[in-house]
Amino acid sequence: MVTIKADALSALVRDIFAKAGCSAAEAERIGRYLVSANLTGHDSHGVVRVPRYLSWKKEGAVKADQSVKILTETPVLAVVDGLHGFGQTVAPQAVKIGIDKCKTNGLSMVALRNAGHIGRVGDWAEMAAAEGLVSVHFVNASGSVLVAPFGGTQRRLSTAPFCAGVPRPGQSPIVLDFATSIVAEGKVLVASFGGKKLPENALISLDGDMSTDPHLLYGDYTPTGRRDHSKGQGAIRAFGEHKGSGLAFLCEILGGSLTGMSATGEGRPFGNGMLSFYVDPKVVDPENFFPEDMARYIGYFKSARPVTANGEVLIPGEPEERMRAERLAKGVPLSDDTWAAIVNAAREVGVDERRIQDAGAQG
Ligand code: NAD
Repeated sequence: MVTIKADALSALVRDIFAKAGCSAAEAERIGRYLVSANLTGHDSHGVVRVPRYLSWKKEGAVKADQSVKILTETPVLAVVDGLHGFGQTVAPQAVKIGIDKCKTNGLSMVALRNAGHIGRVGDWAEMAAAEGLVSVHFVNASGSVLVAPFGGTQRRLSTAPFCAGVPRPGQSPIVLDFATSIVAEGKVLVASFGGKKLPENALISLDGDMSTDPHLLYGDYTPTGRRDHSKGQGAIRAFGEHKGSGLAFLCEILGGSLTGMSATGEGRPFGNGMLSFYVDPKVVDPENFFPEDMARYIGYFKSARPVTANGEVLIPGEPEERMRAERLAKGVPLSDDTWAAIVNAAREVGVDERRIQDAGAQG
């Protein structure tokens, strides 16, 4: 295990993507958002993704420095094409359109299609919340069908994340943000690199047996080699039995079909589709009842007797907020295999060896 300071890690990722042909601004954004996922504890969506992002760029599946193309626009809604640009570039552009329309109208909707991997969806809810807006996001991961629906053993869903964010005056926002699979695919990726183990019931074999073994998803792989989920026969399980499977199904229909992305994306390169709704609470609630009632309710919610003596009831977003504070202070822990894969990636694109060593020394 190595521990790297967040600034040094995002600077190294920035240098890697700048060397790989992204503009300085895009490379900085990729570094910042990947490390933001690590800081919030979602290592699955952090720097472990660097080698895969680079392969996608090399293969032309993701393109540098795209600007979203507006396909349909009314005062309250927009349908935009991400043109297979990096998610860290086209997602914030789409969110900005939603924010601007919502600030004018009190309500807006933006459908984003053909985005490269948009990473931790909570980043986009936080971006809207920073502007005082509530947001709800239905996302599909087209071309990445990995999850078995309730009652089935074969892959029919993506990990299809759902996310909602609520701003709180003077405090960090509420952010509910999760994959609709028991674990995000990135958590299987992290486990395959020797990181945190998977929960007992996370994966299912074609024959219906539960498992924690990442080989079920990726087939054979070497310790630092590329993970290819087309090589495995098993599936991740949808969370929450029929209810979670139903929410995943809706993420496919809304984030995939309604955005124009495609729900399964069979035969197409990986891409995220995201259907987002934005609401301005100041327009809905001119009397300012909402923040006070919400604060009262949060106190009531958290006052429930904990299951264990040292336990605590948390609200969505609280674990991430605490983890961010801790990792900003202490650094981001990475498994040896993840760090080795990043160092390999940096050398392959020609990042100066001294820069790599410097980043590694910033523990
Ligand atoms: P997770 O299982 O860790 O759940 C996270 C959510 O649960 C957060 O809202 C968190 O605040 C809340 N939470 C966690 N512990 C809690 C507790 N003890 N009490 C109260 N609330 C608690 O997340 P996940 O399903 O592993 O997803 C990880 C990330 O992966 C997310 O950021 C998601 O957006 C991302 N993702 C992205 C894609 C994509 O294609 N871009 C696909 C899947 C997932």
